[in-house]
Amino acid sequence: MRIKFWGVRGSTPTPQPENLRYGGNTSCVEVRYSDDIFIFDCGTGFRVLGQQLRREFESRPLNAHVFVTHFHWDHIQGIPFFGPLYDRSENRFTFHSSKRTRSLQRVMEEQMASPYFPVDMNEMKAQRTFYDIEEGQVSFDSVNIEAKWLNHPQGCMGFRLETPEGTVVYATDNEPGDAVFDKAVRQLAAGADVLIYDAQYLPEEYEARKRGWGHSHWREAINVVMESGAKELVLFHHDPDHDDECLDKVVKEARNYYPNVRAAAEGMEITLSR
Ligand SMILES: [Zn+2]
Ligand SMILES: [Zn+2]
Repeated sequence: MRIKFWGVRGSTPTPQPENLRYGGNTSCVEVRYSDDIFIFDCGTGFRVLGQQLRREFESRPLNAHVFVTHFHWDHIQGIPFFGPLYDRSENRFTFHSSKRTRSLQRVMEEQMASPYFPVDMNEMKAQRTFYDIEEGQVSFDSVNIEAKWLNHPQGCMGFRLETPEGTVVYATDNEPGDAVFDKAVRQLAAGADVLIYDAQYLPEEYEARKRGWGHSHWREAINVVMESGAKELVLFHHDPDHDDECLDKVVKEARNYYPNVRAAAEGMEITLSR
């Protein structure tokens, strides 16, 4: 199984030179297992993944499962720019998200509505199916995916993907401090090989002025990985104001508490095998 990071930034894209080593695109993570393609979130990194998939599936139909955690801009902005949605009717995308606030189908129609976008959604030729994954599980052959609600304004879903080769947990946009959600995220992460976790703020920024904004910090990420027994921690959803130098310092400091931690960077890949 292979995990690849296409967008690691939170809130808004940050294409300034001082951010480019970790990357400026917003949330998008791809997981491959056998012939299956799983995509978590459709931030601006989703566009770049689309370019890669176009090259790879040049003359073959493409089939992928897309999990959308919630509908804040940094998790959906790549959708209208994802080429394989327009290319051919043999391409098939199965979208999984919660309908609690809105259906993803409606979100996509609204984000492409006039006067916000020049292309009509009917131009998308690919087959699209929408599933409501309300705090439950879905299975495809030997892959199992579990969803849980996280603590975030308007809600956010965390996902745990289990394959015979390993388990990855994608838990972004989650604020600590609520007993129910704190327990849920630890359950989701229990014993996982890789935990991708919201580390938007520095602990001191969080304490000073970011309480209630719906995000975590690297020190809490360490708590979650240690208390859940997950093996590797990947800090994710980097703050737009944190440049490469800042993230280097975060990783260095975090390793004083837990050795197996790194910060997500665009293009980074993790391979798991048993
Ligand atoms: Zn976000
Ligand atoms: Zn959000």
